[in-house]
Amino acid sequence: MGMKRQRSEKLFKEAERCFPGGVNSPVRAFKAVGGHPLFIKRASGSRICDEDGNEFIDYVCSWGPLILGHAHPRVLDALREALEYGTTFGAPTEKETTLAMLIRNAMPSIEELRFVNSGTEAVMSSLRLARAFTGRDKVIKFAGCYHGHSDGLLVKAGSGVATIGLPDSPGVPSSYARNTLTARYNDIGSVDRIFNANKNSIAAVIVEPVCANMGVIPPDSGFLESLRALTESHGSLLVFDEVITGFRLAPGGAQALYRVTPDLTCLGKIIGGGLPVGAYGGRKDIMDMIAPSGPVYQAGTLSGNPIAMTAGIATLQALAETGVYENLEKFAATLQEGLCQAAAKNEVPVRVNRAGSIMTLFFTESPVHDYESAIVSDTRRFSAFFRHMLHQGIYLPPSQFEAMFLSTAHAEADIGATVNAALAALQAVQSELR
Ligand SMILES: *Cc1c(COP(=O)(O)O)cnc(C)c1O
Repeated sequence: MGMKRQRSEKLFKEAERCFPGGVNSPVRAFKAVGGHPLFIKRASGSRICDEDGNEFIDYVCSWGPLILGHAHPRVLDALREALEYGTTFGAPTEKETTLAMLIRNAMPSIEELRFVNSGTEAVMSSLRLARAFTGRDKVIKFAGCYHGHSDGLLVKAGSGVATIGLPDSPGVPSSYARNTLTARYNDIGSVDRIFNANKNSIAAVIVEPVCANMGVIPPDSGFLESLRALTESHGSLLVFDEVITGFRLAPGGAQALYRVTPDLTCLGKIIGGGLPVGAYGGRKDIMDMIAPSGPVYQAGTLSGNPIAMTAGIATLQALAETGVYENLEKFAATLQEGLCQAAAKNEVPVRVNRAGSIMTLFFTESPVHDYESAIVSDTRRFSAFFRHMLHQGIYLPPSQFEAMFLSTAHAEADIGATVNAALAALQAVQSELR
């Protein structure tokens, strides 16, 4: 286990003096798996290199945006060219419309959209809009779904179903949290009960159509269709948070794959190609309520800035080439199968959930279909697995409850090396934690 870490350790110590916990986003801190984070110096394709010169096959891919892998030449070339023209103007540019068209063509439910700077902002704004459009205050979300860090959405399950929302974070006023009701993912009855207990007061149901923030959990057959029917019959809006799944599962996202049309869609990650971008959009009659068309205020100094638009355009254009999603699917399926076999050989009980090129290896025996079945996973085993993988040059998301992301830069040899590493790692985990 002789990985050099001196520089990462030193840089982390310095960072700890500047930032809470030494990081600018909590998931980076390795808290869930123990130890300190690696400081990354550079990356290319499927590989990242840390400050000590260690190289890894990367399955974080910046948590989703880098579906083309790191430093894709096409994205970098476009960015270099764009930089010469200036970085932001605070005035409309052609690039905003170009990227918007690429998105609309892939996702016909989006008639109009608005660019923002993060997924958090997209979701927050879409719910403000949903509330304004319906004249209602309450929103239903699902336990374990993450929709960014805005106040009203830092709420998961209380016990039982139609519970009064309890804030997940201090600092969230209970008066906000009270308007967020929590249902169980893949349990349409839990949604139905909340609707019946809150007649004419639910503005929207927001959902990750495929969950990726409690580990990957695909929707059971009929779940999204039932959400569509329920929201319609109660006069509420259906909001798909496709910040991860948009252009990940298919160009048209989960809504294309499962053929369910939401009223509003939130996007982020891939559409920014590695730069900060979010977007929300949907039905024109709803979107027309946004200022300056309508009275719902939402603005942004750097929204739609030409550099971010450039990276997004280059990424979506590269994704439009034939065979991209087929190849991602093929490699991801091979990896999933390899991980399952590696676990079986070592008699480690696991479930590998996958949707397209995102997957999670859960250390649990039973199927994982909602938050409750996810959190019973053995996080001690996961942490050991994570460390053994890292020492063999495989950089996994440092939490049991995150997705592994594949990119088009991951080659067959990467997958093979990963499966071999998993075989050894799972053997070590099993002998350590027997
Ligand atoms: C990442 C994510 C967000 C938040 O996006 P940020 O750009 O991190 O603010 C929202 N929803 C989902 C489903 C996400 O995965």
